[in-house]
Order: sequence, then C-alpha cells, then structure tokens
Amino acid sequence: MTRSLLLGLIGEGISASRTPRMHEDEGAAHDLTTIYRTIDIGEESLASVPLNELLASAVRLGFDGLNITHPFKQQVIELLDEVDPVARRIGSVNTVVIDEAGRTTGHNTDATGFARGFEAGLGGAARNRVVQIGAGGAGRAVAFALSELGVGELTIADISAERAQDLAAEIGDHVRAISTSELEPAITSADGVVNATPVGMAAFPGTPFDTSLLDTQTWVADVVYFPLETQLLAEAKAKGCRTLDGSGMAVNQAIDAFELFSGRRADP
Ligand code: NAD
Repeated sequence: MTRSLLLGLIGEGISASRTPRMHEDEGAAHDLTTIYRTIDIGEESLASVPLNELLASAVRLGFDGLNITHPFKQQVIELLDEVDPVARRIGSVNTVVIDEAGRTTGHNTDATGFARGFEAGLGGAARNRVVQIGAGGAGRAVAFALSELGVGELTIADISAERAQDLAAEIGDHVRAISTSELEPAITSADGVVNATPVGMAAFPGTPFDTSLLDTQTWVADVVYFPLETQLLAEAKAKGCRTLDGSGMAVNQAIDAFELFSGRRADP
C-alpha cells in the first residue's frame, strides 16, 4: 500500500489556493507523506509549456494525481487516457488520477462536492424551483449536482445566453434557460437561488441579482468562497434567508479528490 503521495494543482492565479494545505494535512492524518505542488500558469507560460507537456511531465515525474482548475478544466479532457462518464457529461475535469502505469483518468469532484455541501448545509431545503445564475465551469458542475439532488425545475441564467441554453439543453427537460433580464419573476417564485458566477469576489464586487427580490423563505447558495461571506449572502442573511457559502463545495471536492488519489476517505 502506498505510503506517500505526490500531488499538484494546475491553474492560473492559484498561489493563494488552500487546496495544497488541505491535501497535505489529510495525508498526514492518514500517515501518508504528502507533497502537493502548485503549478501556476498564465497564457504566456502556457504558450511556452503547453498543457499536454505539463501533464506528460507530471506522469514522468511520478505524480499520483493532479487537481485542475480555471481555465484548464475543459481543455484537459482531450489529453487524458480515460474520463469518468459523469465528468464527461459535465464537460469538465478537476481531478486527474495517475496510476502506477502512468495512465491518466479524469473525474469531476466539483459536482459531488457541491452536492455534499448542499446536503450538509441546506439539507431538507425545498427544491421544487431553483434558479441558478452562471453556466461556466463551476455552473456546469452545480447544475448537474442540483439535478442529482432532485430539483424539480431548474432555471439557468447567464450573461452569455448561449452558455445557459447549451447547459439547459444538455441536462434535460426539467431545465430551462432564461436571459438575465428575466430573472425577476423566476427569483420571486423560487425556493432557492444559487450564484455560480464570480460576482461577489473581490475582483467582481456586487451581487448577481437584486436581493430585494428575495423572500425570507428563499434559500441562497453561493459557490464563491473568497470571501466566504459575499455581499449576496450578507444581504440574504439580513433578510432572514437560509444561506450556504462556497466552503462546503470547496472542502468536499477536496475530500472526494483525496479519496480518488489515495483510496482513503478524509474526515469531513
Ligand atoms: P467561469 O468564468 O467559467 O464562469 C462564470 C460564468 O458566470 C460565465 O458563464 C459568465 O458569463 C457568467 N457570469 C459572470 N457574471 C455574470 C452575471 N453578472 N450574471 C450572469 N452571469 C454571469 O468561472 P467558474 O470557473 O465557473 O467560477 C465561478 C466562481 O465559482 C468563481 O468565483 C470560482 O472561484 C468559484 N468556484 C468555487 C468552487 C468551490 O469549490 N466553491 C469551485 C469552482 C469554482
């Protein structure tokens, strides 16, 4: 049985990521020597060292696994030997397991992470009608997770109408796309609203919709986890709404990835 793990994270602007620490702490708790490296690349460095070469280098160097983050989650798919069917449906991979023979298999633990975080933080919440804003990388995983969580009618809005329409069409008949100008009636009749846009991060201040539309019975979830309390969540809380921040998704996607890397279940 393996006694050590060599892991890494490939993405852009990830120097402050908490993922390395989460995996190293978890490895230590399981008596595994765990080394987790960040490979922070922007477009310029990608031009000189493309993603396929980075992946091949990680295999050659004996990495056991990689996390993949923005903006490479889609791009990595075609470079892998195998892709888990759910990750393929979602169209994005955030976890790559490298076996002893050097074969790479892609998974998506953002979806399972959101679902676990939701059950832990908003378990039992009504979910007949849910509005999701944002249909990008995180939004794709969240929409599939919400469907697995039994949402009756999912309404997706994105400033890119095409992205929202494509995602809705891929998931099924219970999902519809609307434009952001149509959010008002959707939100006023929703059981819950999920923000899957970057709005609320320091670089994108504000809220993704007018929170005066929220009823006190409506729950609000945010995938943004830096800061943990976004303006959206602060305003929703002030109205008395149940809220869920992005930490549950972030922690649970790491727990699921650690299990894929090590075969061991981390403590939540
Ligand atoms: P992305 O760029 O792939 O997608 C963002 C989407 O939001 C785009 O489709 C964009 O058009 C849309 N959008 C932006 N502003 C909008 C607005 N005002 N109204 C409607 N749509 C809008 O980004 P991403 O990778 O999906 O990341 C989104 C956020 O999710 C980031 O803040 C990221 O940090 C967070 N995230 C959190 C976790 C977690 O574990 N909690 C995991 C992944 C991503």
